[in-house]
Amino acid sequence: MNAYDSSRMHDLLGGSQGYVRTDNPEEADVLLLNTCSIREKAQEKVFSELGRWQRLKLAKPDVLIGVGGCVASQEGENILQRAPYVDLVFGPQTLHRLPAMLNQRKTTNLSVVDVSFPDIEKFDFLPEPRVDGHKAFVSIMEGCSKYCSFCVVPYTRGEEVSRPFDDVIAEVAHVARQGVREITLLGQNVNGYRGHFHDGTPCSFAQLLNHVAAVPGIGRIRYTTSHPLEFGDDLIAAHRDIPTLAAHVHLPVQSGSDRVLAGMKRNHVISTYSETIRKLKAAKPGIEIASDFIIGFPGETDEDFADTMKLIAEVDYDHSYSFIYSKRPGTPAAELPDDTSDAVKKERLQILKSRIAANTGRKTDAMLGTVQRVLIDRESRRYPGYLVGIAENTRWIHFPGDPSLIGRFADVRVSHIESINAASADEILWLESDEETQVGMAPLPGRIPLWHEAT
Ligand code: SAH
Repeated sequence: MNAYDSSRMHDLLGGSQGYVRTDNPEEADVLLLNTCSIREKAQEKVFSELGRWQRLKLAKPDVLIGVGGCVASQEGENILQRAPYVDLVFGPQTLHRLPAMLNQRKTTNLSVVDVSFPDIEKFDFLPEPRVDGHKAFVSIMEGCSKYCSFCVVPYTRGEEVSRPFDDVIAEVAHVARQGVREITLLGQNVNGYRGHFHDGTPCSFAQLLNHVAAVPGIGRIRYTTSHPLEFGDDLIAAHRDIPTLAAHVHLPVQSGSDRVLAGMKRNHVISTYSETIRKLKAAKPGIEIASDFIIGFPGETDEDFADTMKLIAEVDYDHSYSFIYSKRPGTPAAELPDDTSDAVKKERLQILKSRIAANTGRKTDAMLGTVQRVLIDRESRRYPGYLVGIAENTRWIHFPGDPSLIGRFADVRVSHIESINAASADEILWLESDEETQVGMAPLPGRIPLWHEAT
């Protein structure tokens, strides 16, 4: 979501505003830090980066520094107390006001803070997205109304608000016309989507998926992130009926223990989650499931952790994003007593991660000799003369081919599997989807870097 928001900031400030993007902070006139507060560690990084930027500003006093995202939303004016040299503080729902805030700062010479939640106004003021490549995110809903006891999102991004159906489809069609073939529908809980068709009738997430699948050019659809609640039979049927909906779903469960789930206020039990997974696997044979896990939630016992490991064995997850519980200010769980030592939490996390990494490796190895549909994304930097395609199950496949094929789908046979460390954040972040243009590629030598979990 932050990657998406950053690209929208780029859209806003480029074009008529005339700003040009640079990755070199020393040559920038405006420095923007888009922040995350989901865990404490992400938040800590904000002030260390701001410290570095302060030195740049001392050397070049006209530089303007802006802090956006969820740390800005959470801290508001406090950011200015800790870092008075910051010029702009804006939240995830006010980033569209950036050009106006920059002008205000320049004319008044005073720092500007706006971290309000003006509903979904943001999308009415954002320019049409500029597309780079053949995969794109399209935001369909923002915020969260689930109020899990550990999570800061409802307080930093506000409650769930869905974009109207017409706006979503128009954006999908717009990016498809620019060559996008793989769409990732984005939101904190995409299956909580409650948009409306233009006649005012409600549109469910499953209905939305069916319409997105009908947009010309869209050959693969993914979504992230979904929540075990509201994962109804219509969504399962969409997985059965939409061939371009990727057979790879990230459905976070957080814990395999009903006791811990109750403490987390997840509002479901493991038996219903397992039932959803069972139905998904029946509806779409071969579908792979990924999850997030929080380890060491206050009060988590060895038995609770054993339940989590049991669920992992049962679901046979393909991969996970797993972290030790981080106390977030203002959330109900922050008040809970926590008597598990850090050493125990680290050990549990290690056990869980190595178990899931073994799954990832085993499932990658099983691709040897199979034909995989890939969306050809770019030329390989690793192997000159090769292209890189992303398979439905999110693995990157390298194979020889002409760069003119970039942006098309191809079927490639996997002839070799290689383990590498995740090369870039890009390779970690992109989950995927599939379809259409069959390019005449006979079985070709391919390589699959082992997909690595983000750390
Ligand atoms: N809305 C989805 C997915 C949220 S993605 C869901 O609730 O299932 C954000 C992920 O960050 C969560 O799945 C969770 O694993 C992690 N997370 C959120 N708050 C956290 C905290 N306080 N400590 C550690 N991990 C956290």
